[in-house]
Amino acid sequence: NLTTQETIQWIERANSVFQEKKDELTELDQVIGDGDHGINMARGFQAAAEKLQAGSYATPSDALKDAAMTLLSKIGGASGPLYGSAFLKLSSSTKGAETISFDQFKEAMSEATDSLKMRGKAEESDKTMIDVWGPFTAYLQVQSDVQPDEWIEKLADAKEKTKDMQANKGRAAYYKEKSVGHMDAGAASTYYLFAALAEILK
Ligand code: ADP
Ligand code: MG
Ligand code: MG
Repeated sequence: NLTTQETIQWIERANSVFQEKKDELTELDQVIGDGDHGINMARGFQAAAEKLQAGSYATPSDALKDAAMTLLSKIGGASGPLYGSAFLKLSSSTKGAETISFDQFKEAMSEATDSLKMRGKAEESDKTMIDVWGPFTAYLQVQSDVQPDEWIEKLADAKEKTKDMQANKGRAAYYKEKSVGHMDAGAASTYYLFAALAEILK
């Protein structure tokens, strides 16, 4: 079960990873975007980690809600409202629970992925972060417990697959067939986000 403390640790760890991978994510976004994704993620998660460190939370849901609001206001770009809405769903879906059970997490991930699709007006194969959220959530649904190493493999596999896709959404869509062959930046950041959670759960 995911405790409030572990939820905060997740965001802190994600923040360290995004600081470390800032240039890598920005470089991915330079090829088929405007080259700010690393900067956006590093800024958003820095603010979210600081917010959670300063707060005191009764439940994981309360911490996730503050994280969502901070990401929404600090990431900016296309990805800010998307990550914001996904975290808001993770929060609302687990509301009231003292710890998040694996079953609750599975359901919360389903709802978060649906909300991303709605907010982004996008589906799987459009070459966006949904191409990691979607397959990872589908994988979770058929699991009965947390397997951190397998999570990381599945996530890596999903992010790699975005290389072969043609972008239909966001700035990368302007590149049409030229977007093929390059990894989607948001898919890479989603990989890092959940790989950070897997590390916390090890
Ligand atoms: P911006 O494109 O505004 O500069 P970012 O660079 O921070 O914002 O984020 C770009 C990422 O957002 C993309 O790599 C993609 O994963 C994701 N994205 C963009 N548009 C959409 C959309 N409509 N639906 C889902 N994800 C999207
Ligand atoms: Mg960008
Ligand atoms: Mg931008």
